[in-house]
Amino acid sequence: MRQVIAAFFALGLLGGAIAQDETVTPEGFAVSNAYGALYHEFGHLFVDQFQLPLLGNEEYAADAIATLLIVRFGGDAAYDISFDTVDGYLRSADIYGAEKLDEVDFNSEHGMDQQRAAQMTCLLVGANPADFTDLANQMGMEAERQEACAGEFDQARSGWERLVADHVRGTGPEGAPLTITYEDAGSYEPMARLLRDNNVLETVASVITTEFRLVAPATMRAALCGEENAFYDPADRSVTLCYEYVQLYFDMVADPANAGLDTSG
Ligand SMILES: [Zn+2]
Repeated sequence: MRQVIAAFFALGLLGGAIAQDETVTPEGFAVSNAYGALYHEFGHLFVDQFQLPLLGNEEYAADAIATLLIVRFGGDAAYDISFDTVDGYLRSADIYGAEKLDEVDFNSEHGMDQQRAAQMTCLLVGANPADFTDLANQMGMEAERQEACAGEFDQARSGWERLVADHVRGTGPEGAPLTITYEDAGSYEPMARLLRDNNVLETVASVITTEFRLVAPATMRAALCGEENAFYDPADRSVTLCYEYVQLYFDMVADPANAGLDTSG
């Protein structure tokens, strides 16, 4: 059984002991969370390019779109990407939660990591109870709530399908091009190699351009940013995944005590 860390719902506190997951590797965890971050940023790109109407927070919409993309197009990797992305939110909360707790910013664009983990878990267990009931249980989600998640998933999926219907490629020609660039990684070269060896950007680009027709040319960059982040820039329609972000998730497994403390380089 795969385990997420520090079931804070059950423990009721942050910074609890980290449960060991024998199956997770730093490389696998970093790759999964790179996928999770890229699909989230493409959620922002879709909102921008397809002018999707939003009823709520764009961050939650981007998370929901990411989850739908992973579930639908993630293939054999979908389970690991999903599981590790939820686990990544929890580990992020574990690292940053304690210090943020005193000054919780409820207006923060990125909702609290725990909420994001809970929302994604709900969509996952709603989509596929056979695979994700165990995760939902570890998250302390009541059975009744888990059942309601099936409806939430259906609602998210049907809403999404209706909104992007005009932009689904089907058997039609490719839309505007999506270009991949790997910028210099400096001391983060091992992270660049990890992304390349696993075809992370290439796989995401293939899903996006095979399944959808982009309205305008876009780029996907792996780059040094000076911060552990990933973002979408509507000015040049670029999705950026920072090498530092990949390193952070690598370290969460390889060296959890020091993960996120060094942002130099
Ligand atoms: Zn975002």
